Amino acid sequence: QILGVVLALVTVLGPGCWGYDLAHHHNYEEMQEVMEQVHEECPEITYIYNLEGPPDKTVQGRKLTVIVFSDNPKKHEVEEPEFKYVANMHGNEVVGRELLLALMKYMCHEYKNQDPVITRLIESTRIHLMPSMNPDGWEIAANAGSDEDRGWLVGRANANNVDLNRNFPDLNRIAYSNEAHHKANNHLMWTNIAKNESYAPEVRMVIKWIMDQPFVLSSNLHGGDLVANYPYDESKDGAQQEYTSSPDDATFRNLALSYSTNHATMSDPDRKPCDMSANDKFGKQGGITNGAAWYSVAGGMQDFNYLSSNCYEITLELGCKKFPPAESLPDYWDANKDALIAFMWQVHSGFKGKVTDMEGKPISHATIKVKNMTNNRDINHDVTSVHDGDYWRLLVPGRYLVTVCAEGYECASKQVVVDNSNQI
Ligand code: ZN
Repeated sequence: QILGVVLALVTVLGPGCWGYDLAHHHNYEEMQEVMEQVHEECPEITYIYNLEGPPDKTVQGRKLTVIVFSDNPKKHEVEEPEFKYVANMHGNEVVGRELLLALMKYMCHEYKNQDPVITRLIESTRIHLMPSMNPDGWEIAANAGSDEDRGWLVGRANANNVDLNRNFPDLNRIAYSNEAHHKANNHLMWTNIAKNESYAPEVRMVIKWIMDQPFVLSSNLHGGDLVANYPYDESKDGAQQEYTSSPDDATFRNLALSYSTNHATMSDPDRKPCDMSANDKFGKQGGITNGAAWYSVAGGMQDFNYLSSNCYEITLELGCKKFPPAESLPDYWDANKDALIAFMWQVHSGFKGKVTDMEGKPISHATIKVKNMTNNRDINHDVTSVHDGDYWRLLVPGRYLVTVCAEGYECASKQVVVDNSNQI
C-alpha cells in the first residue's frame, strides 16, 4: 500500500514537475491526446488544426496535426511574426517529436504560472508546433522491434517508401540559374502540385501550408547527429561536399548558433563526434554546419522554405541516436529546452514593418530589398509583404539600406540600424 503511494508520487513529481511523463514514446493516438490535453489546459492561447489538402491525410490515412500558441491563436495579427517547428519528418528520428510534445506542455504550464519570458513570447509571436510530419513512418519504426531490427533506416521514409526530405521541388536549380543571370532567387514556387502524385501526400500538405501561412522562421527537427545545419543544403555544381552559402549566410549562421550555443553540448569543442571520425568536427565549429558542406541534398524542405516563401528554416540534428530508449528522453529535454526557446525568440531579430500607400492602405506582395551599408553589398534575397502589408526581415546587427518596391508605385528607401537588443 505504502509502496503504491510512493510510486504514484514519483510519477507526478519526477518528470519536470509540470505533470508530464517525459520518459515515454507517444504513438499517434497518444500524441493527439497530448495536444488535446494542452488545448484543454490552455484554451485561450492554443488552437489545434490539421494540414489541408488535397490530399488531407498521409498514405495510411493519418492527419498532420499542428497546435498553435499565441494570444490570438486562431488568426494572424498584423506585424506579429509566425514561427514553426516541424519534427519527425523522418519517421525513425523521434527525439524532436517528444521534445515538441514536452515543449507544448511546458509552454502552457509556464504561461499559467505567469512566467514573464514565456508569456511575452506567446503574446508577441504566433507559434506553430507540428510534432510529426511522418506519423506513418513513426509507427513502422516503433513496431520494428529492437533497435537492432530497426537499424538506421526502417521507418525513415513514408509508407510508400518516399524520403520526404528529398521529395520537395528542387528550387535550388532554378535559384542557381537565376543567380547566374542576375534574376530573383526568392518566391520561386509557381506550379500547383496539389494533384501531382510524384510528390508524397505529406509533402503536398506541407507545401500548401508553407505557401498559405506567413511564416518567418522555422526549424526542421531530425536525429542521428548533433549539429545545427543551415542553407544551402544542395551544392551548386553537384559536388557531394562543398560549402554553398546563401545570400543570407551571416543571418543563417547566427540563427544556427542561437540554437547550438544554447544547447547543453552541441557547441562543445571537446565533445565526442557521433561517427567517431575526424570528419565530424561539428563541436569545433560551434555546433553548426552549412548543409552542402556536410553532404549535398536535393529536394530538401529547408532550402524549399527559403526559396519559395519568406520563411527561413534551419535543420536541427538532435543527437547521435535516432530512436533512443524512452528513459533517456528527459535528458534530451534538459539539453534542448533553453535552445528551443532561444531559437523561437530569433523570429524577432532583424526588423519588421508595414507597407502602405499614401492613404495608409496596406500593400501586399511589395518587395523588400536590403543592402548591407557596412560592406556596401546587396543581400540578394528579397522578402515580400503579406496580407496587411506587414513584413519581417531577419538580419544580424548592422546598418542597412532598405528599399521597398511595389507594382504601380515608386520605390522608397530608408536606412535602418539593427541591433537585435529587443529579444531575450
Ligand atoms: Zn532526418
